[in-house]
Amino acid sequence: MVEPLLRVRDLTKIYSGKGHRIVACEDVSFDVYPGEVLGIVGESGSGKSTVLQCLFQDVVPTSGAAYLTSFEGGERNMFEADRRERRELRTHRMSMVYQNPRQGLNLMVTAGGNVAERLLAADWRRVSDIRAKASDYLVRTEVPIERMDDFPAFFSGGMQQRVQIAKALANNPELVLLDELTTGLDVSVQAGVLDLVRDIQSKYGVTAIIVSHDLGVIRLLADRTLVMKDGHVVESGLTDQILEDPQHPYTQLLVNCVTN
Ligand code: ADP
Ligand code: MG
Repeated sequence: MVEPLLRVRDLTKIYSGKGHRIVACEDVSFDVYPGEVLGIVGESGSGKSTVLQCLFQDVVPTSGAAYLTSFEGGERNMFEADRRERRELRTHRMSMVYQNPRQGLNLMVTAGGNVAERLLAADWRRVSDIRAKASDYLVRTEVPIERMDDFPAFFSGGMQQRVQIAKALANNPELVLLDELTTGLDVSVQAGVLDLVRDIQSKYGVTAIIVSHDLGVIRLLADRTLVMKDGHVVESGLTDQILEDPQHPYTQLLVNCVTN
């Protein structure tokens, strides 16, 4: 039997301040298996990004656990990692492609330099190796190689996302997290970026969690899907099954919006 690569249990994040309490996500549990793409779909505000931010340790969860098989044999909750371990998780084991390229890239460092930064963080040391690897990944994500020494600040949104993807893949992380990868892009550019991700996935078998409010994106990329509403998982299963035979009224609504 194949072991999951990641197990998430009862993940909860509550934002509270003076007079308000926002349940961003509550009791979210799921497994991710090696080589699969897990989709998380739901309308804006349903807690999708919060789940990814907690996993990538950008946000400290209120409660819950996540076990990565390669981290302490999958026995220790990675939310209890100390500073050094957290850094290691973020640089070696996981990577994130953010909705907003500004969060994932340093726009005033060259495209090649952005990928190199990630490799340096992952303890690569030889400059020639780093440069070769960076250009290799930019080629894989179809960033024209003559743009390697240009600043992403002057790239189109689609090209910035390609650089983010190159950076996220560069040191072969076990798990790639992608948040609304194409949401900020022109419709004409979206298809190209989605095709790229699909090609990369089928070529290299990357394990990924893909978050989107767009069921079309999920349909194209995800093997299995979780449907979130108001911070809760309301339905989960094989993507095809969910699309063909949605059980929860909210999922039925989502599916009808796409197919009608
Ligand atoms: P999604 O990605 O599905 O659109 P989010 O995870 O971004 O949803 O947000 C879930 C809920 O948590 C929303 O109600 C949002 O307003 C709230 N939220 C997210 N981040 C914060 C924050 N830093 N402070 C307060 N509330 C937040
Ligand atoms: Mg979001």
